[in-house]
Amino acid sequence: MRTAVVVGAGLAGLATAGALSRSGWRVVLLERGERVAAPPTALVLWANGRRALESLDPEGGWSAITSPVPDPGVRRPDGQWLVTPRPNAATSVVHLEDLYDALVAGLGDRVEIRTGCTVTRVRTGVSLRPVVSDGRSEIEADLVVAADGIDSAVRRALAPESVAVGSGFTAWQAVVPGFRAPDGPVSGETLGTGYRFVSVPLGEHAGGQGGVYWVATAAGAPRPESPETQLALLRRWFSGWHPPVGELLAATHADDLIPQEVRELRPLPRAYAFPSGPGGVVLLGDAAHAMPHHLGQGACLAFEDAATLRTLAAGDDLPAALASYDRLRRPRTTSMVRQTRRMSAVVQARGKLALRARDVALSHLRPRLFGAPVPEWAPPE
Ligand SMILES: Cc1cc2nc3c(=O)[nH]c(=O)nc-3n(C[C@H](O)[C@H](O)[C@H](O)COP(=O)(O)OP(=O)(O)OC[C@H]3O[C@@H](n4cnc5c(N)ncnc54)[C@H](O)[C@@H]3O)c2cc1C
Repeated sequence: MRTAVVVGAGLAGLATAGALSRSGWRVVLLERGERVAAPPTALVLWANGRRALESLDPEGGWSAITSPVPDPGVRRPDGQWLVTPRPNAATSVVHLEDLYDALVAGLGDRVEIRTGCTVTRVRTGVSLRPVVSDGRSEIEADLVVAADGIDSAVRRALAPESVAVGSGFTAWQAVVPGFRAPDGPVSGETLGTGYRFVSVPLGEHAGGQGGVYWVATAAGAPRPESPETQLALLRRWFSGWHPPVGELLAATHADDLIPQEVRELRPLPRAYAFPSGPGGVVLLGDAAHAMPHHLGQGACLAFEDAATLRTLAAGDDLPAALASYDRLRRPRTTSMVRQTRRMSAVVQARGKLALRARDVALSHLRPRLFGAPVPEWAPPE
């Protein structure tokens, strides 16, 4: 039986470990945390991410945990439309706790999970199968999958040219539980000068509790203040924005807030696959292509990576499969990163002229960003 080591039990690692095990691989999943745990937030799944999840596990029961989200368009803080809603945008939202539960349930009994294990080294060679180590023990496998996120130790060893840097933004996410959520429509995306606010109703799912997921983005470095002060700052920055922005911030508690610096990889790794003897190492998810969250594509692309790898690695020639993985995934993710950077410029626009240019650009840019064909994706045959 072929063996794989998957480093990192985030969305990318869980999806890949489950898919490989269901295809007959024996998998060891290494996670540095003491347990596999979802952050208490949510995720927007675009059509490509949803299709990838369905291709990874047709029995995954995805409809039971996701809720459809109509495209809310884009507005200015005063409520005026910058981009009117598009009826055919196929997106959904899922609470991460539900998504992690579904991915863990799909791991099956061929996956051995080892928590509290931080991979610090990876060894490859012309005639060696790849080996990873946490400094105490070594594991050799046919395939090593680096799904260890933006600060990937595996990527740092194999593609040191690619470095995690700040994108110039801070993001705050929160889920307001259903019993605290404001009445009325809560779906929306609003762009101010250096600020952005997106909110999505969680529908009937989210552990049956509903609620509203929101993410606020502001240009600038992470704030050192306490969560209470950061929430007060958010209420001040977004005061006067059209409903439901103020209402959602008023209903948010400081301990609901998840602040984080928005970071990305620059440049992207020169390769996503590194042959090693009869097998090799692949980079996947944020370890390969971490990007700002403006297009909500990071996890969607990670699921595409996983589904592509699973299909290609089903054949007998693993080095050839890894070369194909690199050939298929790098152009796709490079193009998405390029579009995300354009969106970063849109969010950061300041000054009258820049804002006017932004509004014109947005009306052309957004349909291409969110409609077909850019996010369209199909698993390889
Ligand atoms: C504000 C915000 C909003 C977003 N919204 C969306 C959205 O709506 N839609 C979307 O598709 N994407 C979105 N994203 C992006 C998405 O969250 C990420 O792309 C995705 O979670 C990355 O998953 P991952 O498994 O690759 O990495 P991670 O989630 O970082 O997981 C890596 C795992 O590896 C473990 N690990 C790390 N190092 C080691 C090591 N050395 N040894 C062992 N284990 C290790 C970590 O503990 C972790 O469990 C958003 C991101 C942000 C910041």
